[in-house]
Amino acid sequence: MSATVHPFLDGKPKRLLIGGQWVPALSGRLFDSVNPATGKVIAQLAEGGAEDVDIAVAAARTAFEGPWSKFKPLDRQALMLAIADMLERRFDDLCVLETLDMGAPIARTRTYKRWIVQALRFYAGQAVALAGETPHNSFPGDMFTYTLRAPIGVVGGIIPWNGPLISQLWSIGPTLATGCTLVLKPAEDASLGVLRFAEIMQEAGLPDGVINVVTGMGSTAGARLAAHPDVDKIAFTGSTATGRKIIEASAGNMKRVAVELGGKSPDMIFADADLDRAVPGAGMGCFNNSGQICYAGTRIFVQRSILDEFVERLTAFSKTIKVGDGMDPETQLGPLVSRRQLDTVTGYFDLARAEGAQIVAGGERLGGDLANGYFVPPTVLAGMTNDMRTAREEIFGPVASVIPFDTEADAIRLANDTQYGLGGAVWSRDVGTAHRVARDVRAGMMWVNCYGATEVTVPSEGFRMSGYGAKGGRRHVEEYLYNKTVWLNLA
Ligand code: NAD
Repeated sequence: MSATVHPFLDGKPKRLLIGGQWVPALSGRLFDSVNPATGKVIAQLAEGGAEDVDIAVAAARTAFEGPWSKFKPLDRQALMLAIADMLERRFDDLCVLETLDMGAPIARTRTYKRWIVQALRFYAGQAVALAGETPHNSFPGDMFTYTLRAPIGVVGGIIPWNGPLISQLWSIGPTLATGCTLVLKPAEDASLGVLRFAEIMQEAGLPDGVINVVTGMGSTAGARLAAHPDVDKIAFTGSTATGRKIIEASAGNMKRVAVELGGKSPDMIFADADLDRAVPGAGMGCFNNSGQICYAGTRIFVQRSILDEFVERLTAFSKTIKVGDGMDPETQLGPLVSRRQLDTVTGYFDLARAEGAQIVAGGERLGGDLANGYFVPPTVLAGMTNDMRTAREEIFGPVASVIPFDTEADAIRLANDTQYGLGGAVWSRDVGTAHRVARDVRAGMMWVNCYGATEVTVPSEGFRMSGYGAKGGRRHVEEYLYNKTVWLNLA
């Protein structure tokens, strides 16, 4: 194991959080957490299995029916504000851990602080805004009707590795706001920040069993959570292939499901766009987090009259990006998360060549000082068409496919020629073009003259094979509640 660089990485195996206690997996099994910048093991974690998930679900049920149910909205709000305050003070600790665990540059993970603290405060506000209705009725006699918005119960949260500090909030926030309880299964490639975050929540007063964390494999711990008969809802973020399994597994007890899945989002650059903004905007819209973002703009459609200029400028821009160990504050792109992800992305480099694409920037694993880590440079593919596999499949690496279009109608047709519907952007000075394209592309999020802005107060949702279920905004919280109608005979 590498030298300790963080107090949380003290050489002791990390445990599961179940019912407020930190416990080993029942099987005693452990798995390694690897720093993708160095290829070195930085920690060992308990490998929770189906039997640990069962105990965690039981603990979550006990908490849901026990003391937690006595927490009034103002009590839950106070708890969330206390967590937000503590997090604000401790955030440096968490962002370093995230960088060591999954590779994202510290310059990026530091920016999560504002997002996460605001998210907790937003959800704390929602806790006191839950309300039913008093619909009028015309029933014979004298009847009064009202609705209650009741917490759905035990939620299973299953999250990916590409930004766990943020993605865990999408289930922790609404769980605490509504009075539900949670069993969280982080991704095997990046669980450390989630465990540390749970410790901080405990210090801030989180009652036992309200949030439980079971680290482990997707095919065992994740699959059990998705199929568990006493889980009322699954909030899943991850790949489309796993999302389908989650939906199938949920059928057993018809639990509610939200699935936030993959994408191959279009970014459309019109000839009248301000290229000084569009080139870096579209470039980072694709390359950010080493391309490991669900809504990354990986298909860049460029109007033919500016194609050559755009490719030249995007290539030049991509070469200015500093790739390296995320702990260096100058680094803009860190490594890919794992050896497996590296193999996937370099496999697509080979496929792109075989399909006849021109690799005008990047396209090879980085060596030299970075040879032990899983680094690839920003990669620009030209000579592409939208029917190549490289342009259709989610690569989840910093790989931009540049594809020409002629008219606005072409751009919209090509943008929609995908199984996904997560995000997309349009760059144009023409307000009519911008609004028409934003309206006609079938995706849950569209950006105009920018890429990738998101905030917890603003709802977003995938579409088609990118999944369903709200993220952010009021509607997200509503999905953790069920509606109960009460008829009262006043006669
Ligand atoms: P993944 O689907 O392989 O894993 C996601 C999580 O599911 C992990 O915790 C994993 O352990 C678990 N899992 C795996 N198999 C399972 C099973 N059979 N049953 C239950 N759980 C199982 O995805 P990944 O590779 O970790 O993440 C990358 C994917 O996530 C990309 O496709 C990306 O687009 C997507 N993503 C989507 C969003 C969004 O909001 N739409 C956000 C981030 C990432």
